[in-house]
Amino acid sequence: MSYKGGKFIWHNGQIVNWDEAKVHVLSHALHYGSSVFEGIRVYKTPDGLKIFRLSDHIERLYNSAKIYRMPIPFAEHEIIKACKALINDNNLTNGAYIRPIAFRGYGEIGLAPKDDHPVDVSIAAWEWGTYLGAEALENGVDVCVSSWQRVAPNTIPTQAKAGGNYLSSTLISTEAKRLGFDEGIALSTDGMVSEGAGENLFLVKGGTLYTPPASSGILTGITRDTVIKICLRLGLTVNEQSINRESLYLADEMFFTGTAAEITPISSVDRIAIGSGERGPITEQIQSEFFGLFSNKTNDDHGWLESI
Ligand code: PMP
Repeated sequence: MSYKGGKFIWHNGQIVNWDEAKVHVLSHALHYGSSVFEGIRVYKTPDGLKIFRLSDHIERLYNSAKIYRMPIPFAEHEIIKACKALINDNNLTNGAYIRPIAFRGYGEIGLAPKDDHPVDVSIAAWEWGTYLGAEALENGVDVCVSSWQRVAPNTIPTQAKAGGNYLSSTLISTEAKRLGFDEGIALSTDGMVSEGAGENLFLVKGGTLYTPPASSGILTGITRDTVIKICLRLGLTVNEQSINRESLYLADEMFFTGTAAEITPISSVDRIAIGSGERGPITEQIQSEFFGLFSNKTNDDHGWLESI
């Protein structure tokens, strides 16, 4: 078994067959969630395959590891090189999703890892289409506000993209799907809007965009940053500010951002239609600017498209 197009995995510097990339059941990360990871997209463009903001993702991986005092036994440039090579090794010519992970491996079982506790690094890549469904990019998704809150900033740091954080995301997403929604939005512990289970959130009101700030328990997404910069170029104002729950219901437009979700419009929250209930014009404009990067319609001013 493998994910579509996945044949080889980079594991601690070696290329191994997909089925042979295994860990010991007593690995620290399996018991305590002590892993940090990234999700990165590779797009097929007229100039060949390009990895979107690879260096920024790998920088975040190292920042996540730094927060947890987890030394990654490879240099950033080695991981960047390995991600690129893996796309060729797996012959992923239609684009791909790359998943690098660094984790506390098999050492002692105690909670506080000693300095010599092994840190393993793996990278997998496979073909992955749209995350929230093929039609979602156009028709939008129906979401709910979760009964589960985001982790508080003084409990688990949300700016680290760590495995353990995703217990929270799993509760939010599973609850939403169980109740017949496509995805869930969590509030932060102060009751303000935080983010989706695996996506950041933007809303549009009166032509201005609003997105929760880093202090609302979000992962500061790379797609979120991309959208903020796209808005700047389009002359649209984005306010990073606390958003209350009722503002969601009263928004003209709303969308999720994320590497997996890309830019996905939100049609309803708790079964209340957002605006007309259809993708709004500003959302469409931002989507077109974003996806234009991969068809050469949008200038890559920031050097976000990295060659393989
Ligand atoms: N929030 C959470 C909890 C996520 O898992 C993700 C996906 N990595 C995001 C936001 C969006 O981040 P990015 O745009 O960097 O993928």
